[in-house]
Amino acid sequence: MTTQTHGFQTEVTKLLDLLANSLYSNKEVFLRELISNASDAIDKLHFLSLTDPDLIKDDPVFRIRVRADKENGTLTISDNGLGLTLEEANTHLGTIAKSGTEDFFKNLSGDAARDSQLIGQFGVGFYSAFIVADRVTVVSRSAKAAAEEGVRWESTGNGTFESGNVARDARGTDVILHLKEEAKNFLDEWTLREAITKYSDHISVPVELYVERTVEPAEDASEEEKKNPKKEWKYEQVNDARALWTRPAKEIKDEEYKEFYKHIASDFEDPLAWAHNKVEGEIEYTSLLYLPARAPWDLFTNMDRKHGLKLYVQRVFIMDEAEQFLPNYLRFVKGLVDTNALPLNISRELLQESAVTTKLKKALTKRALGMIEKLAADKDKYALFYKQFGAVLKEGPAEDWTNRETVLSLLRFASTVSGSAEPTVSLDDYIGRMKEKQDKIYYLTAPSYEQAAASPYLEALKKKGIEVLLMTERVDEWLMTNVRDYKEKRFISVTASDLELGDLEDETEKQANKDAENEHKDLIERFKTALGDKVKEVKVSSRLTDSPACVVAEGGQRLTPQMRRIYEAAGQMLPEDTWILEINPSHALIEKAAAADEEHFKRYAELVFLQAQLADAGSLKDPQAYVQLVNDLLLGK
Ligand code: ADP
Ligand code: MG
Repeated sequence: MTTQTHGFQTEVTKLLDLLANSLYSNKEVFLRELISNASDAIDKLHFLSLTDPDLIKDDPVFRIRVRADKENGTLTISDNGLGLTLEEANTHLGTIAKSGTEDFFKNLSGDAARDSQLIGQFGVGFYSAFIVADRVTVVSRSAKAAAEEGVRWESTGNGTFESGNVARDARGTDVILHLKEEAKNFLDEWTLREAITKYSDHISVPVELYVERTVEPAEDASEEEKKNPKKEWKYEQVNDARALWTRPAKEIKDEEYKEFYKHIASDFEDPLAWAHNKVEGEIEYTSLLYLPARAPWDLFTNMDRKHGLKLYVQRVFIMDEAEQFLPNYLRFVKGLVDTNALPLNISRELLQESAVTTKLKKALTKRALGMIEKLAADKDKYALFYKQFGAVLKEGPAEDWTNRETVLSLLRFASTVSGSAEPTVSLDDYIGRMKEKQDKIYYLTAPSYEQAAASPYLEALKKKGIEVLLMTERVDEWLMTNVRDYKEKRFISVTASDLELGDLEDETEKQANKDAENEHKDLIERFKTALGDKVKEVKVSSRLTDSPACVVAEGGQRLTPQMRRIYEAAGQMLPEDTWILEINPSHALIEKAAAADEEHFKRYAELVFLQAQLADAGSLKDPQAYVQLVNDLLLGK
């Protein structure tokens, strides 16, 4: 055998260093990872054998075996799955193929507790072997390769590994762990049995443990033999080996659901919720969907990140990450669907076009939303979920017209009534608190909660006791350009030029506004002259109580400043907004302006206009000019 020494990808070395410190208290997870890999390799071969039965004809019964060797201090996990070629071993066991790996390492802080959580989330997979072993040997042969094309791979986890071809009769993989002294308890039958049952009861392949058993002496055995019966070593199945989702839901313990989740989602943390359904209708299917407790670190930054459900047809694993079964805004949902309605040889392309897929997607979307709705009944848990995935859910109303109202009902916001930045108010809460004559849902989008809460646009509504939803996430802009109403109540931005207070404004108020308009005719003219074509119109405001002025855009619907910035950053040329300036004549600053001579009045007018823009956008195009203006006025110039 000729062996070559290879260096691990830098990330692997980093991961191995981190592993030693961080997963120390949770050693046994290596068994889950290695059994999970063995089961994946068997699933893959099972799938290939559907079209090429020759691949498995010399060894047709799939199984995973675990064998402890006390004398040599080794633990071996074997499978008769797909196996590895030399090239595959070198890449799959020497690099980390996951997208976003580099990002992940950038995210590590050096703080052991925080990092270990991240590592758990990242999934250490095969490399978890080095938690318990100071040397790992992998002997494998691909089911597609000849006997002399077996592979031997070995590493002590210190930066390099060795690999080369060896002869090997059987297909499949042995992972041989040379256990560290402190991990020798994994040679003990009962420790192994307990861990294997915990981690692999739900796996549909039998997991067999190599055990020593007493042979029952025969009837006619000698007295001597009966006293000292013979012992023999044999493989004994320890797991249930029925695919979890095929069992009746009421028979399955929460612990089992959780463990199964960790297996299929490669997550170390428990899921927040799950929904297991068996449906016998037009299309027969079983689905098991999960809500993770934590968003992957690259959920928003990595648009290519894989997602989707595992697809099984008649219990045979067909593919991972089938994203055809759920809409994009539910891309955080994990789980599987098993159906009899698709052919075993379905490809991704055909899946995309199948009418069955469309129907399943519709049904599974409902199931997933139902699971989230159910979770919403538990306020604390829902808050956890919402913190992680709320922003993704907000893509829903635009993407999924059919379920628009359901998705909207699942959203939560801060509001002028809730009084905190935490998103806790649902649209139904809002509607339940609406004033008697109110028929619209008022909202404000702003770059931060602080800015939103202090916005002058809220003043009149606050005075009337009308609740305003405060939306401060980027995706809110997108959301609000895509929804018009909820339960027949229109959404109205409080910055709209016409607030449409409708019946909320009584006759006396309407009259008072008209009177104010007349009374301050001259002042309005002075503002118009001073500001020239910077403004389209100047009006007396009915929405301000504490601020001197605000701006609203002509025509109501307009790009919010945040959206405008996003477009401009992307190099889009946009027409300038045409502004309507609303003034509050009873504010001291406006009164002071009114009393000034024309030259100073012009400065005041500009100051008022710039301040109004500042309140609207949170920033100014030319802050220097603003500072100059303020200084001039302060110095009495
Ligand atoms: P993951 O399982 O998430 O892909 P792992 O680190 O657990 O990541 O495994 C890395 C890769 O190594 C697997 O994707 C697979 O290609 C290969 N591998 C690991 N164990 C086995 C095995 N028992 N049989 C065949 N291939 C394996
Ligand atoms: Mg794995």
